[in-house]
Amino acid sequence: MALEHITTLTCVRCGRTHGLDVAYTCPACGTEGILDVGYDYERVARTLTRESLPSRRRDQWRYMELLPVDARQELPELQVGLTPVYEAPRLAEELGLARLVLKDDGRNPTCSFKDRASAVGVVKARELGREVIACASTGNAASSLAGFSAAYGLNSVIFVPHRTPEPKVAQLLIYGARVLRVAGSYDEAYWLCHAACERYGWYNRNCAINPYLVEGKKTVGLELAEQLGARMPQWVVLSVGDGCTLAGAWKGLREMHRLGLLPWLPRMLGVQAAGSSPMVRAYASGGEPVPVEARTLADSIAVGQPRNWRKAFQAIRESQGALLEVTDEEILEAMPRMARRTAVFGEPAAAAALAGLTRAVREGIVNRSEDAVVVVTGNGLKDVRSAIQTAAPPVDLPPDLAALESVLHKLRLPASN
Ligand SMILES: *Cc1c(COP(=O)(O)O)cnc(C)c1O
Repeated sequence: MALEHITTLTCVRCGRTHGLDVAYTCPACGTEGILDVGYDYERVARTLTRESLPSRRRDQWRYMELLPVDARQELPELQVGLTPVYEAPRLAEELGLARLVLKDDGRNPTCSFKDRASAVGVVKARELGREVIACASTGNAASSLAGFSAAYGLNSVIFVPHRTPEPKVAQLLIYGARVLRVAGSYDEAYWLCHAACERYGWYNRNCAINPYLVEGKKTVGLELAEQLGARMPQWVVLSVGDGCTLAGAWKGLREMHRLGLLPWLPRMLGVQAAGSSPMVRAYASGGEPVPVEARTLADSIAVGQPRNWRKAFQAIRESQGALLEVTDEEILEAMPRMARRTAVFGEPAAAAALAGLTRAVREGIVNRSEDAVVVVTGNGLKDVRSAIQTAAPPVDLPPDLAALESVLHKLRLPASN
């Protein structure tokens, strides 16, 4: 299998189809013309079957026929994807929901969902003979690309906005990326990266520009379909920045449905942070997103000018889903709530999804008799400042039992013995 399983690249704006010689966006529409990769599904269906799956690699490359890479290429060693799904009955009960499932994507090699896309990105860069790959990111795409470049022997150039949380910057530095900390917003870093890739010929890992990256993101949908099958909940909940993640997940679910590997399709619930929710407003009004200055502690979804809103809106419309926003307070409240009932520690952008589901239940968008799966897109250790801000401090004491006795009441333990 070279690339014969890919048929066309279709512009999500004008609908024109292009051959694989187009590198990034639609030549007619420019940067607004994001492309969508089409596959020869009849061909895919011949090999990607229920019977063939159990014996395959235990990572996202198990869906090779639905990934836009040449199968003869060397693949990164890192185990990306096939992250665990957990039933979370105590969290479900607390939400007043029939059933809740978590998919922990903080378990990926660099601790976020972005690894799914980076894995495809580095393979694509090598396929095209590029030695340098670049991206602009609020943090996770950057640390992910840096990690995958390190493991795969490529050079990464990373543009981060200056308020990126320190642990994410630490990841970049330790992976040996060339880090450019831009004195500006994510959106400004994004444009600088875009211009640099044009000028220097670096491979651009940005999901909105690069049609192949979203294909990596869709593996979360492929996995949910395989892992949950007929037990697929009615709702799939994801936080939304640029919209690529939600759009990708939906594409994966649809493909598995089309291949007969998922009996029915769930509805997509997208969640933005209130300080950065241009898509929520645009979706409600039927217009295009109006750029805002992003203000939220959920740095991974702090996107003032979303790029992939067309694909995301399409996913929400097609799935009869919903898009809503949550405040930073709701996010900070959801973070310990999830951790204390499941031990899954999500970063703010991941907890935003749970906060959104909580709100959706309260507002009647999601019915209490329904079930949902929340994708935890990033690990909480990536932003400990927010975590510490939301939890109570530890109890200080000198090292003796009498002192412990005097502070015991503060622990509020059950009085059983
Ligand atoms: C990138 C990211 C998202 C949102 O993804 P988009 O494709 O920008 O919508 C959500 N959560 C985390 C942790 C992320 O890193």
